[in-house]
Amino acid sequence: MNILFASSEAHPLIKTGGLADVAGSLPRALKSAKQEVRLVLPAYPGAISRAEKLKLVSDVVLAGARTPVRLLEGWLPGSRVRLYLVDSPEHFDRPGGPYLDEAGNEWPDNAARFALFSRAVSAIAMNCAGLGWQPELVHCNDWQTGLVPALLACRAQRPATLFTIHNLAYQGLFDWANFQSLKLPLDWWSMERLEFHNQLSFIKGGLVYADWINTVSPSYAREIRSEAFGCGLEGLLQHRQDRLSGILNGVDYRVWNPGKDKLLAQTYTVRSLERKRENKQALQQAFGLPERAGFPLLGHVGRLVDQKGLDLVIELIPELIKRRLQLVVLGTGQPELEQALRTASQQYPEQIGVRIGYDEQLAHLLEAGSDLFLMPSRFEPCGLNQIYSLRYGTPPIVRRTGGLADTVSDADAANLAAGTANGFVFEQISAAALLEAIDRALGCYTQPQVWRALQSAGMSADFSWTRSAEEYLRLYQRISENPIEHPDCQRRGIRNAQVEAIL
Ligand code: ADP
Repeated sequence: MNILFASSEAHPLIKTGGLADVAGSLPRALKSAKQEVRLVLPAYPGAISRAEKLKLVSDVVLAGARTPVRLLEGWLPGSRVRLYLVDSPEHFDRPGGPYLDEAGNEWPDNAARFALFSRAVSAIAMNCAGLGWQPELVHCNDWQTGLVPALLACRAQRPATLFTIHNLAYQGLFDWANFQSLKLPLDWWSMERLEFHNQLSFIKGGLVYADWINTVSPSYAREIRSEAFGCGLEGLLQHRQDRLSGILNGVDYRVWNPGKDKLLAQTYTVRSLERKRENKQALQQAFGLPERAGFPLLGHVGRLVDQKGLDLVIELIPELIKRRLQLVVLGTGQPELEQALRTASQQYPEQIGVRIGYDEQLAHLLEAGSDLFLMPSRFEPCGLNQIYSLRYGTPPIVRRTGGLADTVSDADAANLAAGTANGFVFEQISAAALLEAIDRALGCYTQPQVWRALQSAGMSADFSWTRSAEEYLRLYQRISENPIEHPDCQRRGIRNAQVEAIL
């Protein structure tokens, strides 16, 4: 199949979270399955400098852009995946992150930036970008690409569209003035289309107009149809539930493999688990913690936001330091969480180590050097870190939600007896429930045979992309054979003219 994969980030070009891991590895897995998949991203400076063999292939005139957008073509590093970068310097050539400036504030022109990106993706999708190539399906990811299915819905000879929700909490909401400035069809400002509580919602473009919606784990696909997880969009998702499914993310074991990982102090496998200890020592050193015989080391890496439940860990600190354990945390995010963690590490320098920042090498060392990985998320669409920690022989402690529920089997009596236990799972969003799980984990840690069984169950589990990529391919085929006609398109003549004008 010819597939266009549109994303606002992809490892190793640019990364803020799990979406980048997926966009950097699923296209590669599809390519290995002999599909013609091409990746398109905004041309951030980091992406330009890391892409391989980049050259200018065309200038595309898009509505709303003062100058033509330059389409650069190259390769996703170390792969056979063709890459397009949408180069509009006034939108993407700036320091800071893809969504936030250097001070951590959202770029004020995010609506214009990702509307332009979506228009460029739509132009490629319609073979209007001078590439002489048209995909049969466009795979859109998260709100930054949400306008694409809406822009394409009523076009004749359009490709099929799939919209993947990596995190429903990020919706791309903008005010009326932004909506007006984007010059989108005025009737999109309605509850049935892109308006959401008096704001323009980019994600609704995907949820309303895509031929199919999926999310990154089967559990999250169920959860988001409920009020507790639906972020106000549960009604729409219930309405579309016949075309909504979940496919668990795979992980890239070329990047995350303790047997070959060059970012570790020492590589190891399930047969040489004793070498894992050298990573623990290196990790303690990196965080300035002393070695303490018999103390398990609990680790966490991730964005410090409410979703991830680190406030529960912070609440537990007075309890945790009474136990014979150490804790290390690597992350950036909400200032109050950063500050609380910093304070804890200053108060208990022998037991708690904290690094505020983004550090890929340290993230790998943390997965390998910790004895237990903490992931008490309130919600978790898929979660990758717990899957990495399974492979690194670092049993995760997780809340039973989303992808965590789909990947971690609790060390209860039945799972231990069956040999399927690989971590610790708790239910309630509360510090007490988390503590109970930590205490169970500490109990198992003192039983070498049980511990070893947990580690090997996790290390031998296979969450590679091969299986998930096959599932995606089956879904792509199903969608492209069976696209929907959105009710809007019955007025096709008018809509088509309108949409062509805004492409
Ligand atoms: P999310 O997508 O919600 O951020 P995931 O667990 O799916 O969470 O993926 C997070 C990815 O980002 C992982 O690859 C993780 O290692 C990485 N990551 C997050 N924060 C940091 C950090 N501070 N330093 C290094 N890597 C990080």
